[in-house]
Amino acid sequence: MVMNNYSDQQIGKDLFRFIKKRSKKNNIFKFAWLKNQILKISIQDKNLQTQLFRFVDVLPCLKIKDQRLDIFLQYLQEGKSFFYTPSLLASQTPVIREFMDWVINFSVKELAKTFICGSNIHEAKRSIQKLSLKNQKYTLDLLGELTLNEREAEKYFNDYKKLIKEIPLAQLSIKLSAIEPHLNLMNLDAQKNNLLKKLRELFRLAVSSQASINIDTEHYYWKDFYFSILKEILMEEEFRSWTGAGVVVQAYLKDSQKDLEDWIIWAKKRESPISIRLVKGAYWDYEYAKSKQQNWDCPVFTKKFQSDMNYEKLSEILLDNYKFVKPALASHNVRSLAHAINYALKKNIPKSAFEFQMLYGMLDELKDYFSQNGYILRIYLPYGDLVQGMSYLVRRLLENTANDSFLRQGFLDGSSEDLLLQDPGSLALDSSEKPVDKGFQNIANLDFSKSANHQKILDEIKNLNNEFKVPVKYPCLIGEQKIFGDKFFESVNPAKPSQVLGLVSYGSLQDCNKAVSVAKETYKKWSQYDFLKRADLLRNVAQEIEKNRYRLIALICLEAGKPWSEADGEVSEAVDFLNYYAEESLEIFSLNKLRSLPGEKNYNIYQSYGVSAIIPPWNFPFAILVGMTGAAIATGNTAVIKPSAQTSLIAFEFVKIFNKVLKTKGLDQFLGLVNLITGEGKLVGNYLVEHPDVKLIAFTGSNEVGMSIYQKASLSRPPKRVIAEMGGKNAVIIDQSADLDEAIPGLIYSAFGYAGQKCSAASRAIIHQNIYQEFLERLKQTLPEIILGDPALGQCYMGPVIDANAMIKINNYINIGKQEADLLIGDLAIPESGYFVSPTVFVNVAEDSKLAQEEIFGPVLVVFKANSFDHALSIANNSSFGLTGGLYSRSPNNIKQAIEQFTTGNLYINRPCTGAIVSRQAFGGLKNSSIGFKAGGPNYLLQFLQEKTITENTMRRGFAED
Ligand code: NAD
Repeated sequence: MVMNNYSDQQIGKDLFRFIKKRSKKNNIFKFAWLKNQILKISIQDKNLQTQLFRFVDVLPCLKIKDQRLDIFLQYLQEGKSFFYTPSLLASQTPVIREFMDWVINFSVKELAKTFICGSNIHEAKRSIQKLSLKNQKYTLDLLGELTLNEREAEKYFNDYKKLIKEIPLAQLSIKLSAIEPHLNLMNLDAQKNNLLKKLRELFRLAVSSQASINIDTEHYYWKDFYFSILKEILMEEEFRSWTGAGVVVQAYLKDSQKDLEDWIIWAKKRESPISIRLVKGAYWDYEYAKSKQQNWDCPVFTKKFQSDMNYEKLSEILLDNYKFVKPALASHNVRSLAHAINYALKKNIPKSAFEFQMLYGMLDELKDYFSQNGYILRIYLPYGDLVQGMSYLVRRLLENTANDSFLRQGFLDGSSEDLLLQDPGSLALDSSEKPVDKGFQNIANLDFSKSANHQKILDEIKNLNNEFKVPVKYPCLIGEQKIFGDKFFESVNPAKPSQVLGLVSYGSLQDCNKAVSVAKETYKKWSQYDFLKRADLLRNVAQEIEKNRYRLIALICLEAGKPWSEADGEVSEAVDFLNYYAEESLEIFSLNKLRSLPGEKNYNIYQSYGVSAIIPPWNFPFAILVGMTGAAIATGNTAVIKPSAQTSLIAFEFVKIFNKVLKTKGLDQFLGLVNLITGEGKLVGNYLVEHPDVKLIAFTGSNEVGMSIYQKASLSRPPKRVIAEMGGKNAVIIDQSADLDEAIPGLIYSAFGYAGQKCSAASRAIIHQNIYQEFLERLKQTLPEIILGDPALGQCYMGPVIDANAMIKINNYINIGKQEADLLIGDLAIPESGYFVSPTVFVNVAEDSKLAQEEIFGPVLVVFKANSFDHALSIANNSSFGLTGGLYSRSPNNIKQAIEQFTTGNLYINRPCTGAIVSRQAFGGLKNSSIGFKAGGPNYLLQFLQEKTITENTMRRGFAED
């Protein structure tokens, strides 16, 4: 028995002694031999481990025998395992094949059973009884991480209620994501009310049945939202004295100490305790990767010892406050447990005042220690369907096998007890942070889990609405001059067409001449200007855009009808384009990539063209306009921008920002560098294209206009340089190994995000026949639940289409579809005013029909059934376009085949097919989708330049310079 003056290490050794006595052959995992071998082999080979875990993840979806074995072999091959060739050979014999399939299936199921207590409520009840015989408590977790629609969520909700009713004094752990299918932080109020309603019903039942409910914390993004809801409901009169509720604090989070302290302050105010489970956290890989991808501060500690140290500190805080909250210390780390035991002993905290928690199937040999020594131990008991349980299983496997996992080090690697029990604080001394990466970095998008960001956008929308109350006239901007036209057109809010945002000048041909002449004059100085300083200007403009982020989001939202997060992404992309092209231009102008030999010197000089016409579309009215303009000026050209008429104010805002930067930097001499001519594409756009002093045209828009520009430019002598990004008819393939929980929301976002008006949007879905019906059923339940509305309010998933013409054109296609194909989803309720079109899905569509071939540019999706992966690829490739493509698959072979054979400029695997990020996903198409290299990629700038190669014979009378 431990004593009061023991050290953490001594108590830890006690625990180890106990474990050793209990474990036969020092085998801490209760796995059969085979399972243990799988873990050991995978630990020795990281690559193989990844492939095996991926296989475990996909297995429940593989319902056809042959497919199971084939995919298993593919993963072995990917993992470069030496088992691959013998397994492949063995699998040629039908009997052995049958046997191998059985072994695989059996092993994974057995592995799952060691962590999952049962597949139904009866098995779960049996486990509960066994625990009570050992004097151990439990908390039941109904497996399931994600629901896609209300029907699926309702099933979970009813299951929770059933558990409370069926099990006396039930102890449950629940996940809010299982009962709320449409977690969306843009829609906080509605979401909150919805969740509060569901929780009230559940809590009411729990109170009357004397059940306890713990709300598990999941991803960091949702944490603050979850906590705020729980604090609110548990303070309501009805639940204020209920002590059966519990929450979770994750010690791997950097802000967990603050969270814990806030909960304690809150609990003191409440005057009745709730349980607080302290864990380290199970989503480390996800949180780390997500924050890196978003360029957000990493929310988790990046070193394991930091989480361990924090855990110890938080367990002290928790134990110190046992009178106000009920501490639950959940861990399998002997050192962390020993520290908590020791601290409680030192502080004379009664053993009945707190509890330890451990997971079912993990470190079982220690569990009796607690009951034998008078401590309370609660076991986290997951139960449910194997399919639902796989992500839980993968998390446990990761926990057992990660390099810095205590369980792995202690029980598989055999690290010494002293090492395992050392104070995590002592490791802090020799830790050093990695140096920060220099060079181009993507700017971070807004974090919409912070409500302050919502408020700032709402404030800016309010400001703009005030500004637009009396619509003002917008001029063309030429050099230093503002030139108002004789005639104006209205720029309106597509969500509320009665709201006129501004009156925009129709630029005249004369204005075009003037703009080109000012740009030509400015070109003389700009082309000679130091390229380093040119890059500086781009960076300064990027900074100024960043300063105006909220205003720009509001403007894009009002004029282009974009939801907040899409508008935010556009601002980030614009900033990225400028910073990236600044960086790339330095490389082009300072590196000589030609080879020189003794006596022969070779080098390239890159020369700009002169005046460029920048012709962007309305659907990325800011990012594409800024990107094309930035590329032109980074390379020494000057620009005349002809924006899309529908989004003229956004273009005006950019030129205003640009000229402001020129003025504040004392660069007034370059005020003619970027000029703006608003008006009709057919008139002024066309005129600029044909203007003899325009030498380069950067265009993004429809194939029809793009090709006509290309044709005209080729007739000019010398021919003009054309860079054209054009349309798409993008396909997403979902094969039978795909995870539909990911594929369906990914496809919905790809097809209906920004009302399908992205060039990259999915407009064709190709589904393998084996999952076709399930897919249709789930899509039919899920899609109608997306929220349509005014993007300015921030809550909608899908806003309006850009204008009345677009609305009519898309509805015409829908009417054709109703005659030529079968409507699966359509005619949904849409807002009364505004240019809204119902999300629409057709099935049984002929491959060569208009619906399947023409770019509709709206929220219309056609779905095909494929009978094989080859068939799926052939449908996908049956298009004159080749912009983006998507694939949801967990078959390594299918992924490889798609990489080789999918004729698309950008192929997105297991993620939505929209949302390219500068320098990470260079963007542009094949076939009719593009002329030139990709935007945001390493070759883009070269197109804005002409190459001059100099070769000099440096030999003089027999001697050559070095
Ligand atoms: P659009 O072709 O109608 O217009 C594009 C631009 O060209 C506008 O500024 C317009 O005013 C101008 N224009 C129109 N007629 C002209 C003419 N005769 N001469 C010169 N300029 C003229 O396209 P849109 O409706 O604005 O944008 C949607 C299209 O853009 C879709 O086809 C979409 O796929 C494509 N797009 C492609 C990409 C890409 O990167 N590949 C990106 C965004 C949009």
